Amino acid sequence: MTQTGSGSCRTCTRCVMDESAADITFDASGVCNYCREFLQRSGGLIHENAALRQSRLDNFISRVKAAGQGKRYDCVIGVSGGVDSSWALVQAVRLGLRPLAVHMDNGWNSELAQNNIANLVQRLNVDLYTHVVDWPEYRALMQAFFDANVVDVELLYDNAMLKVNYQQAAAHGVKFILAGTNEATEGMKIPATWNWFKLDKKNIMSIAARFSNVRVKTFPAIGVPGYLYYEYFRRVKWISFLDFFPYNKGEVLDQLERDFGYKRYPYKHYESIFTRFYQGYILPRKFGIDKRRVHLSTLVAAGQMTREEAMENLQSPPYASEAELAQDIQYFLKKMQWTREQLDAYLARAQTSHRCYASERGLWDGLNRAMRFIPTRLLLFLRKR
Ligand SMILES: [Zn+2]
Repeated sequence: MTQTGSGSCRTCTRCVMDESAADITFDASGVCNYCREFLQRSGGLIHENAALRQSRLDNFISRVKAAGQGKRYDCVIGVSGGVDSSWALVQAVRLGLRPLAVHMDNGWNSELAQNNIANLVQRLNVDLYTHVVDWPEYRALMQAFFDANVVDVELLYDNAMLKVNYQQAAAHGVKFILAGTNEATEGMKIPATWNWFKLDKKNIMSIAARFSNVRVKTFPAIGVPGYLYYEYFRRVKWISFLDFFPYNKGEVLDQLERDFGYKRYPYKHYESIFTRFYQGYILPRKFGIDKRRVHLSTLVAAGQMTREEAMENLQSPPYASEAELAQDIQYFLKKMQWTREQLDAYLARAQTSHRCYASERGLWDGLNRAMRFIPTRLLLFLRKR
């Protein structure tokens, strides 16, 4: 048995997943179900032969161009300022597509992310649509999620981002949303207790109604019926675009820096100040979850990082420095209008499951079982955020 860190938390011998994932299991040689299932599902894609990959890509690009004829745009690409979505946008333009870049600004963008997006769309000469959320309403929703002590505070952003992308695609008659998702660097599933089903408008509204008196007027939420409307009635397809390319994050970052004045972040999903505070402070402190574990494990299993490097990476705190953490705490308190005591009280309270509130998860699972019709690409996307 391999043991690392403090206590007796067992860690996989191949990747760095450990028993903080409640449903982890190990085989006789100590290899876990997370990296095993990931390689079974994605191994073929990661090591796909170049000619086959190229012909799949050519095929797909022709379909997007054909569907976009006579329209101003032929695809929508959601951009966060992060490396994955930035790279998706660059590749689309290089291949002659005419994307509309869509960004959702929930008030927590880092300046670095704003600059990365601005540089990118300017140099690529791409139109950018930014949806700016109504901050008082969004803050009230966040407050309700904090008061509910549920794990997935990012459900708000992820859900609204899905809705805004679908809305823009439908508004412009576009049939394809190209997402910056990919198996090679993020295909491993997130443990079930680390997040929540992302198309759960009902869950959001139920938590809001229980813990806040805000009337939700402008928040762009999407539920299962909305998803069915866009995918099957409006025929907008969600595509995991980066799966068409060999994807090595290190090389991609170098290219983005060289050609687009891109500035990198210390860790994944750190383009938003809240996301970095949530993943780097709230999740570990309140929920015992270090999301880097699943990202690093994927890189190890995909052969892009050694297990030793990943272990070493996990030893360091999620924040680049104590000063940066202190700065983010101050920013968070001011933005949420909290005192330090309120933050400490929140961190000390026990967590509650999203299951305690109304949900569309049962509906989704039932539909999925009955019809087996939900595109795996979107499922993967929903599972990994
Ligand atoms: Zn493993």
